[in-house]
Order: sequence, then C-alpha cells, then structure tokens
Amino acid sequence: MKFARIAIFLSVALVLSGIFYLSIYFNLSKNTAIAPGFGTENAPHALPNISLSEAEKAKLIAKDPEVYEYYSFDNEGLNIYASAQDKANFKAECKIFYEEFEIFNTLFKNADIESLKIIYEKKGTQKLNLKQYEGYLPVNEKKMGALPLSGVKIALDPGHLGGDMETAMMEGKFIRIKNADGTITEFNEGNIALKTAKILAKKLEAQGARVMLTREKQGISAFDMSYEAWLQSSFDFALEEALKNEALSEADYQKLKHKRNKKEIHDLLFRRLDIEERARKINAFRPDLCLVIHYNVDEENYLNRDRENQLLNATEANYSMVFMPGSFLKNELQRKEERIELMRLLMTNDLALSLRFNSIIMNELEDNINVLPISPDSKMGYIRNASVFTGHDGVFARNLALTRMVHAPICYTEPLCQDNIEEYPRLANGSRLEEVAEAYYLGIMKFFEAHLL
Ligand SMILES: [Zn+2]
Repeated sequence: MKFARIAIFLSVALVLSGIFYLSIYFNLSKNTAIAPGFGTENAPHALPNISLSEAEKAKLIAKDPEVYEYYSFDNEGLNIYASAQDKANFKAECKIFYEEFEIFNTLFKNADIESLKIIYEKKGTQKLNLKQYEGYLPVNEKKMGALPLSGVKIALDPGHLGGDMETAMMEGKFIRIKNADGTITEFNEGNIALKTAKILAKKLEAQGARVMLTREKQGISAFDMSYEAWLQSSFDFALEEALKNEALSEADYQKLKHKRNKKEIHDLLFRRLDIEERARKINAFRPDLCLVIHYNVDEENYLNRDRENQLLNATEANYSMVFMPGSFLKNELQRKEERIELMRLLMTNDLALSLRFNSIIMNELEDNINVLPISPDSKMGYIRNASVFTGHDGVFARNLALTRMVHAPICYTEPLCQDNIEEYPRLANGSRLEEVAEAYYLGIMKFFEAHLL
C-alpha cells in the first residue's frame, strides 16, 4: 500500500514537472491555454485552439458590473479577489500566473471542486509549488479509433426526475392539456428529456463516442434512486449537512425537519443536491463536451393554468433558447467555490468553446425543428434579469448551477414550448423527440468536424 502510494506520488510528480517545464519551454502566453479535455499529448481529436479576448470574456462573464470587482488581469496573470474592497486594496485571494494556466487547465479537468478549493487556498498569490499538486494525475484516456468520434467523451444530462405524473407535478414539470374532443393529453419534461438523451446517445455511440447519462431511468435521480427512496435513506443526514454548510436558513431547516412536506423538501433541498450530484458525476467522467437537455414551457401560460385540475391551455407561443456559462450576478460570487468557477471561466477555453458549441446547437435547432430563437429583448424575467445576450440568435450566457459547475464546454438547451398547440401532441407521441435529438447529433458532429478532416 505504502509502496503503491510512493509510486503514484513519483509518477504524478514526474508528469506534472514535465508539463511545467514544457509550458515554460513553449513560453505560454495568456492566449495559448490548451483546449480542455486534451492534454499535451497528440490527441486525435484535439480541438482547435480558439480563445476569446479579455474584452469578449468580460462581456459574457458579468450581468452586473460589480462582478468586475472580483478579478483583474495584469501583466503577470489573473487575480481573483474575495470582495470589491480587497480589489481596491490590491489584496488578491488567489493569483494564477500566465505560465501556470496550462497546469490549471489540467487541474480543472482532473481534480474535484473540494480539491481545487484546497489548492486555491494553499496557493494564494504565490507561484506554483509542484509539491502541492501531488495526487492529481493528468489522465490520458484518448484512444485512436476508426470512427469519427472515437476517443471523444460526451456527458448528457436529461433534466428533472420524470417518472409518474405525481412526481412530475411535485417537481412542477408536467404538461396536461384538454384536447378538443374532451380527452386529456399528459406527459412530463423529465421523461421526454430522458428519451431524447437516449436517442442521442445511440447516435453518438454509433460514431464511436463514449456517452454518459447523469440518470438512466424515469423517476430515478442522479443519486441512482427515486425521490421516495432518497427521502427514506438520505434526507435526515442531508438536512443536518445543509444546516452545517449554511445552505439552508435556520427557519427553513426547522420547517423541513418538522413539517416534512415532500414538495418543500424537494424545492428547498433535494433539487440543489441533485444538481450538485449531476455536476459531480459529469466532472468525474471528464467529458470533452456536455449537453444538458430540457424542454421549455411558456412561463405565462404555465402560471395561468387551472390549478384546481392542473390543466394548461395550449398556447400559440413557441421559441427556443440555449444557455452557456457566464452572466454572474453581483451576489453570485460570495462563496469561494463560485470564485473558483469564475477563475476557471476566465483562464480556460471553456467559455470560448461553450460559445461555439451553443451557437452550432442553436443553428441546428433552427434548421431541424423550425422554431424561432427567442428575442434578446424578451421581457421574460430570466432573460432580462439574469442572462447576457451573446450576439448569436437564441444564445445567452446564464449562471445556472450546471453551467457554473461543469468543467467542460457546456450547452444547456431549452428548445420549443411543450405547451404549444402543435408541439404537445408530437411530444406526447415521441415523434418530435427524434427531430430534437437529430439536431443535437448534427450539432455535436459539426462541433468536432474541424478536426475530423
Ligand atoms: Zn427543465
């Protein structure tokens, strides 16, 4: 055991020093950070080295100008500040020197957020001491192969839980519409997102990709159990942890502990933990790309539903949108984990590649499902108050939990309105899911096309 550890330590030290000296040798500048997911090895599908200027990054990263108080670039590297006051006093919490960018690209791929937090704290504003990095072995899993996506890893995250209609109603993610003949059509977003993911996974696997789904069965969460089973086995512990981590207020803690209302527990506690588990699973898989699969509803129509019978009206509204990382709000950088993700987005290619990936996916949605992108001038709350328009139709930066926590280029999809009068019958019978999956498949193939030629 001891010898094994020493051996691992020595090989890690060797690999890291290799990368370190190579990076010095090539005199890496701030614009040559390596593409995520691809180390210095000669990967068959290495992504083209695209990057954004500091001005372009600044536009995408912040919804509120106060976000700029949390970082600065200078001639040595990137500084992260814990507060505006610290920035005024030139007191950085962490500094990444330009020659360290490549090592941090590797670390962001290979270390979990807890380990990254320890590295971030230990490092502070000092230059890298390689000894601090023992244990984070860069992984070279790329394999040559005959198929176009051989060696490529893709994570798919079908949103929500789905399962039976009772669970979907508890989640608030269901469609129930009375048809002209008086019958009722009902289905839920979690189940159709999962079906779409499975159709897409098959297409990608046929091209040689390795595909991971964050959940595999209807009604089974990212914890690999139903919500009911989670309530039985994990709720009490999770509740105490949430109080300890200040993820719940004392009042909410008391309410959940004594009332034990399923929907309140879901909304205040489970939903967040489930999403964190999805991010953990995705990052552990070390994907080259991540696609998050949702379907939209027309917000106003959903809020105006007949609540007594839980029935929606079919609406004329229909639109698509996709979300990439960025658009931090001013109160979204208070926690160290959030600032570490800000740092990642500023110093890796995740932002540039996400923008490219989202733009391609949106084009394919437009061409294949024939639904218009939402207008950037939309009055919808989450577009107006929480998103930054990227300049590409339908593509917005938005600081969703997953766009923030996933360490890979990511596209969070919200195509079409499920409650649209033409959409709901073909979503219910499944024919529309094939078309949406085909759009994603074509988009992913185009994303990798540049280096397949
Ligand atoms: Zn959704």
